[in-house]
Parts: sequence; C-alpha cells; structure tokens
Amino acid sequence: MIDNYGRDINYIRISVTELCNLRCRYCMPEEGIEKRSHEEMMTAEETVDAAKAAVSLGIRKIRITGGEPLVKRGIVKLCEEIAAIDGVEELCITTNGTLLRKYAKRLYDAGVNRLNISLDTLDRDKFSYITRLGELDDVLDGIEAAFEAGFEKIKINTVLMGGFNDDEIEAFVNLTKDRPIEVRFIELMPIGGGIDFDKAKFISCQQVLQRVPELESLELSDGVASMYRLPGAAGRVGLIRPISCEFCSGCNKIRLTADGMLKPCLHLDAEISVKGHTQDEMAEIMREAILNKPQKRETMDADNPSRAGRNMNRIGG
Ligand code: SAM
Ligand code: SF4
Repeated sequence: MIDNYGRDINYIRISVTELCNLRCRYCMPEEGIEKRSHEEMMTAEETVDAAKAAVSLGIRKIRITGGEPLVKRGIVKLCEEIAAIDGVEELCITTNGTLLRKYAKRLYDAGVNRLNISLDTLDRDKFSYITRLGELDDVLDGIEAAFEAGFEKIKINTVLMGGFNDDEIEAFVNLTKDRPIEVRFIELMPIGGGIDFDKAKFISCQQVLQRVPELESLELSDGVASMYRLPGAAGRVGLIRPISCEFCSGCNKIRLTADGMLKPCLHLDAEISVKGHTQDEMAEIMREAILNKPQKRETMDADNPSRAGRNMNRIGG
C-alpha cells in the first residue's frame, strides 16, 4: 500500500515477545523487565490475524522479532501459520542466535526464509560483557546450525560501538570471504539502554569503509543497508546508518509490538492498538496507520535520544 508520501509500505516487523534470555547493555536493563499478564499481550491467533490483515493491504515481507522470538512458546507453529498465508513472500526472523541449535531446522521446515542473527563481538569475554548473560559459543554454534538446517544466506547484525568492537571490523568483514554471510554493521542508536552510552560509543559506519578500503560498493541498497563486497568474496557487507544517514524517505515498514501496538515509525511514540479487534478491523486500523505514517522522524543523535517511548526489546528491531 502506498502511503501519503508515495512510499510503498510492503514490510511489517512483528514482535512476538518483550522477554529475552540476554540483557544487551544497549537494549535492556540488567534486571530484565517484568513479565506482563497474558491478557495484555497479543494471542497467537491475534498475531496471525494481524499478519493476514497486513497482507491484505499489500504487505509481502514479514519479520518476526522481539525481545527474543525464540523464547516465545509456540514460535514454530506461529511461524508455520504466518508462512502459510497466501501473499507472504518472505518470512524472516531476527534472533540473538543462542537457541538456534534447537530451533533452526524446525524454523526452516516451518517456512522461515531468512535469519538475521545479532552478534556484536567475536571475543568470548566481550560477548559475555555486552550481553550480560550470553555465551559466544552458543551463537557461533547457532550460525552453524542455521547453515546445516538449509538456510542459504545468513545475515549477521553487528551494532558498531566505538572502543568496544571497532577493532573487530576487519574480523567481521572477513567472515564474508568464504561463506554466504552478510555482515550488517548498524550504528548504535540512543534508544533503550543505548541512551546512557557515552558519546564515544556512537561511531559512524563510515569507519568500516576507512578500516577496510578494499570494500567495493555494489551501488545498491537492500532496504536500509548500503551494500558492499570484498573483491571475490562469497558474502557481502551492509552498512545501516540510522544516525549518520537518515533513511525515512525510503522507509517501507511498519511495526507491531507484542502487546498489539502498531508503530508507524520506530522513533516516534505514536501507537495504535489492534488488540481485541477482528482481522477486518485490524486491516482498517493498519490502513489508517500507513496513511498517517509520518514523513520523517525528529533529529536523533547522541544528544537527542530517540522518541520511541519504549526500549528496543519492547518494539522489535
Ligand atoms: N533479540 C533479537 C536480537 O537481538 O536479534 C531480536 C530483537 S533485538 C531488539 C533486534 C535488534 O535490535 C538487534 O540486532 C539489536 O542489536 C538491535 N538493537 C537493540 N538496541 C539497539 C540500539 N540501542 N542501537 C542499535 N541497535 C539496537
Ligand atoms: Fe535481547 Fe535482542 Fe535486546 Fe539483546 S538486543 S537484550 S538479544 S532483545
């Protein structure tokens, strides 16, 4: 569906839980968040209805996210039901990867087409530090499990943080040399735990090109990422620059939170509830939300935090 600014909105990110088995410092508070009552959250049936409503408006790509989607009970069945909706061309999941050894094959068989795995460091100690609760080896094993399950291309999302992982840029880029891995560097955003990070952590994706000048531009943008490749590499490198290069004019998505709030823009606090509505009513609410999707967000940088009004685990990145 085309919005008021001529953008074709064909993509929805659906968060299925606010809960997570990690506590990444830029995302969640150390103590986690209070589990909310079932009544407040979308049921699986409502989530599938919302997906159908979105598809009826021309949405073709659906990403399941969270919190950590793989801690959600019934996640495989939910994916199966969403993948089976006529009109869904791509069903993706964004996951921290820790539970993929258990779930990768089941998700693949359920019809999930793509996985984005979040991984900010290749160093065990740094991984445990940044996630507070995680083990690097679980994620590395999860990546292998995803390839074994049949996923052909794996995307790795890496949040760039000055003084934390900028010294690993080359190591991440090298992961793309021999395997069909797409490493996507993402600028740290002042949202959730990220708001309290010191300014030096907010570095531009331009650093990637400075450190690895051999990267060749593919002169294409995969949605929000500008794409690059090492000469002769099997995989690719994407740069996602929400801070240094605003991409609102190309934004093609809306978001649905686990408590049933539609968010037409990640960085604005406007939300519209679809919970408790029929599929047809949801479609009407979504149509309005898409039509009223703001043209752009406010200025956002280390001094001007996001106005999302929620942490990322409660929106779904
Ligand atoms: N738990 C899953 C995961 O980590 O992939 C899915 C949800 S998580 C909120 C989605 C993405 O948001 C992750 O790639 C994470 O790194 C990113 N994210 C969270 N907080 C962020 C922040 N302050 N700045 C940039 N990216 C952030
Ligand atoms: Fe959990 Fe993902 Fe947030 Fe990390 S980024 S705390 S894995 S929801």
